[in-house]
Amino acid sequence: MTVGVLALQGDFREHCETLHRIGADPVEVRLPRQLASVNHLIIPGGESTTIGRLLALYGMLEPLRARAGRDLAVWGTCAGTILLAREILDQKRGGQPTLGVMDITVRRNAYGSQLDSFELSIEASAFGEGPLHGVFIRAPQIESIGRGVEAIARLPGGGIVAARQGRLLATTFHPELTGDARVHRYFLEL
Ligand code: GLN
Repeated sequence: MTVGVLALQGDFREHCETLHRIGADPVEVRLPRQLASVNHLIIPGGESTTIGRLLALYGMLEPLRARAGRDLAVWGTCAGTILLAREILDQKRGGQPTLGVMDITVRRNAYGSQLDSFELSIEASAFGEGPLHGVFIRAPQIESIGRGVEAIARLPGGGIVAARQGRLLATTFHPELTGDARVHRYFLEL
């Protein structure tokens, strides 16, 4: 098994460091030939519009769409969740380039601006025992999920912050910033 981290923009280095700590040897993925060498891919947090444009520019949208959820397990954190989502609410005309492979609807910047970023403890038994420390940075919200999608973590108010559809995983928070590798371990087993 080879795990890649999409390294076009955003906090891919933090994901790579977490993976190294649990004994994986991640590949930084920027181009289709690098994508071809991995069967797990993390799409990091960052700016989904920028990552989407770079995916289009580097000819990555089509090969990713063709494999995501099939022979390629994909985990999107924050901006990565937006890129995976089939629908993004309140899009400007023309929208942004996205993958649109996961049956979820998201709202970008749902909790407000950068200053409204927050940290909260999250209960998610799927990731193992004990609460996770959730870091939400200008996070999207998963507003609704399709039938084949499982909500695996919620905020106390009920908002979905982690979802899984087969070999696709989305978290609106950033486990790579907490030193807790449980979600990375979970993903590698998909
Ligand atoms: N707000 C960013 C976006 O819309 C996501 C922020 C993040 O990844 N931490 O793309």
